[in-house]
Amino acid sequence: MSYDSQPPTSPSSPSSSPSPRRFGRGNVTVAVAALVPTALAGWLAWQAMSGPGDSDPPKVVPLPGQSQAQSQSRSASSPADAKPSAPTTPPAATASPSKTQEQGKPVANPTATGPLAGKVVVVDPGHNPGNFRHTREISRLVDVGTHRKECDTTGTSTNGGYTEASFTLDVSRRLRTLLEQQGATVKLVQNEDRPYGPCVDERARIGNEAKADAVVSVHADGSAVGNRGFHVILPALVKGGAADTSKIVGPSRDLGTRLAGKFVQATGSAPSNYVGGGTGLVVRKDLGGLNLSTVPKVFIECGNMRDPKDAALLTDGSWRQKAAQGIADGIGSYLNG
Ligand SMILES: [Zn+2]
Repeated sequence: MSYDSQPPTSPSSPSSSPSPRRFGRGNVTVAVAALVPTALAGWLAWQAMSGPGDSDPPKVVPLPGQSQAQSQSRSASSPADAKPSAPTTPPAATASPSKTQEQGKPVANPTATGPLAGKVVVVDPGHNPGNFRHTREISRLVDVGTHRKECDTTGTSTNGGYTEASFTLDVSRRLRTLLEQQGATVKLVQNEDRPYGPCVDERARIGNEAKADAVVSVHADGSAVGNRGFHVILPALVKGGAADTSKIVGPSRDLGTRLAGKFVQATGSAPSNYVGGGTGLVVRKDLGGLNLSTVPKVFIECGNMRDPKDAALLTDGSWRQKAAQGIADGIGSYLNG
C-alpha cells in the first residue's frame, strides 16, 4: 500500500464500479499482448489528467474481529499463512558489497560485467518491519514539497498476518540479486538495518543522491476482497516547494510501462481490476517518494494482500521470485532502451 492514500482516482476507479474481473490464462495472454498499447493509451489518458485525486489518511484495514489500533500494532513476525517458499529464500540480509562507495553513495562498479554494468539502481522496500514499534516517529509530518505528510506507515498485511513490510523486503532482496547478476550496482533504501523508516522524503533523497539510473519502490496493496492484480504508480507532473517532477515524468513513464509489461510476462498476473482501467498504470501526485524524486522512479503494488487469491500468490516464495524477475526485466528493458 503506497503510504497514506486511498487508491488513486481514475476513470475506472473502484469508487465508481469495483467490478473484479477474473483473468484466466487465455485472458492473461491477451492481456500481455494488449498491455503495452493499452498502457500507452492509459498513459496518454493519465498524462492528460496529470494525476487525479488528493490523498486521504493512511488506510490500514483491521483484521476480522480486530480494532484499527490492534491491526496497526500487529507484529511483523507472525506470517501465519506464509507458505515455506521454494525455490529459494531470499539471500541473507547482508548489505551487498558495492565495490566502490563514496560516503555511502553507491558508485557504478568499474569491474562489473553484464548488460547492466555501469548502471546504478536503487530499490526501495516499502515500509519497514519495525515501523509498528515506532508509531510516534513514523507519524511525524515531513515536507514533500506540495504538502506535509506522515514520515512513513506500517503498511498492510494478509488476513493470515504476513506483513507487507516482510513481503517488500523479500522481493527487494531477490531483485537486488537478479540485478547484480547483470552487473548493476544496487542500493537498498533499507534492509531491516534501521529501527523504522526511512521517512518518505529521505527515501527520495537516497535515490537522488545516488544519481540512480532507475528507482523502484516495492509495495503490496490492502484493498477490498475481489480487487485483484498489480499496478504501477507513475509520478504526475508536480511543482511545489522542493517538488519538481518535470524532468522525471517522461522517463518514469517509460520505466513504468516496461515494468508493467514484463511483470505480466514473468508472473502471469493480470493488471489491477480496480485501478488503472486495466492498463496496470496509475498516475499520482500525492506520494512524497515520487514528488521529491529527481531521478526516474515508479512504485509497484504487486497485488492485493487482502484478497485471498492474491494473498496465496504473495505468500508464495516461488511467485515472489517471479515478481522480482518481472521487475528486474522491466528495469533492464528500460536501462538498455
Ligand atoms: Zn505499501
